[in-house]
Amino acid sequence: MPTLFAETALLPDGWAEHVRIDWDAAGTILSVKPGLAPGSAERADAILPGMANLHCHAFQRAMAGLTERAGPEGDDFWSWREVMYRFLAALDPDQVEAIAAQLYVEMLKSGTTAVAEFHYLHNDPAGRPYADRAELATRIAAAAGAAGIRLTLLPVLYQSSNFGGAAPTQGQRRFLMTTDAFNALVQTLVAAHRGSHTIRVGIAPHSLRAVPPAALAEAKAALDRLDSTAPIHIHAAEQTKEVEDCVAWSGRRPVEWLLDELKPDRRWALIHCTHMTPDETRRLAASGAVAGLCPTTEADLGDGFFPLIGYLAANGRFGIGSDSNVGIAPAEELRWLEYGHRLNRRKRNLVPAEAGQSIGAKLWRAALAGGAQALAQPIGAIAPGSRADFLALDRNHPALAGRANDFLLDALVFAGGTAAIRHVMVGGRWVVRDGRHPGEERIAENYRAAIRRLA
Ligand SMILES: [Zn+2]
Repeated sequence: MPTLFAETALLPDGWAEHVRIDWDAAGTILSVKPGLAPGSAERADAILPGMANLHCHAFQRAMAGLTERAGPEGDDFWSWREVMYRFLAALDPDQVEAIAAQLYVEMLKSGTTAVAEFHYLHNDPAGRPYADRAELATRIAAAAGAAGIRLTLLPVLYQSSNFGGAAPTQGQRRFLMTTDAFNALVQTLVAAHRGSHTIRVGIAPHSLRAVPPAALAEAKAALDRLDSTAPIHIHAAEQTKEVEDCVAWSGRRPVEWLLDELKPDRRWALIHCTHMTPDETRRLAASGAVAGLCPTTEADLGDGFFPLIGYLAANGRFGIGSDSNVGIAPAEELRWLEYGHRLNRRKRNLVPAEAGQSIGAKLWRAALAGGAQALAQPIGAIAPGSRADFLALDRNHPALAGRANDFLLDALVFAGGTAAIRHVMVGGRWVVRDGRHPGEERIAENYRAAIRRLA
């Protein structure tokens, strides 16, 4: 039986010393026992659960950094989106796979062991379905397999360009699917990955502006017939224009509409929710759904501030995502969650906490729980029944020298401790050893070739 001995490990109740962890051939933890001798077990220094990234559009990694030039009339989310549509217009399946594999290796090395891919590229560059409608979703799963990252695959339903079923634009042609075709795709993917220990399938109705309510209800009903616990993710209230358009359409704001009409619960992740009233904030917190926060993308796109402090005070659940992949490291996302509010309020340590409690630990642990819930996989804890997905930190690294327990997490989140991530395990298998991924040269060469062809 595979066994690991950790000098110290972050367990659900806190840090423990001299911990033996063993797991079965499928990568599920069987036992976690503190206070033991190492025996013949492989040894590691400080172990913590790997982070889940709950919101990613992998292909956007290859355009990161290409949209930072001043436009003629002032840039915003909507001008960025036009560039994004032009960028994706020519991507072929090999490029989609090469970009995702490179991204997923980078994620693993930065401490992410699971990713929810909000996958909305379905059609070929002309907007026609591929002969196999699951072509590009299959490429995403293949990239995750090559990298060794855990995947929650969320095919996206996308039908309209604005609220009320407005006709889609030319730039959206690669995303479009009828509800029947979408449900068939989901059925194919659920069947392909049923019983998998590393891939879970859910759905992602893109947003209220892209999916009319009747189609959303049909897609959810079809998913329920296949898997009534599968996750459902949706973008909501990222932009003030989106809120205004939703009010003009329905008389209600996007999060308000979703809470009223769909009664989201623990199966749901509402991505961004940047613009909420205090009442929406309290109601979302009480719903049990996860808010999917993507601070570096939200900053890059000029979205606004999520009302984090009030949401956490109401015991709201959240996880973090890399969304457009301008930032990939979970520590950076968590740091900016707190930093945004520090800059805004000119105060420090603003995430609600008891006196003396570590903000880094509070953020890391909350995002582990929210990420596990949103990915709908048994992850985010070093405990029997959870998957063996770990980060092994090197406490000899200068970034962690003299740090113990929650100070390790403060260093990780706020002080460059990511550099001390030495090994990464997913499903009981080391996928990064001594900072290296065994396939990284080949995957990076494929990525460079894909980028050369794009240019
Ligand atoms: Zn997104």
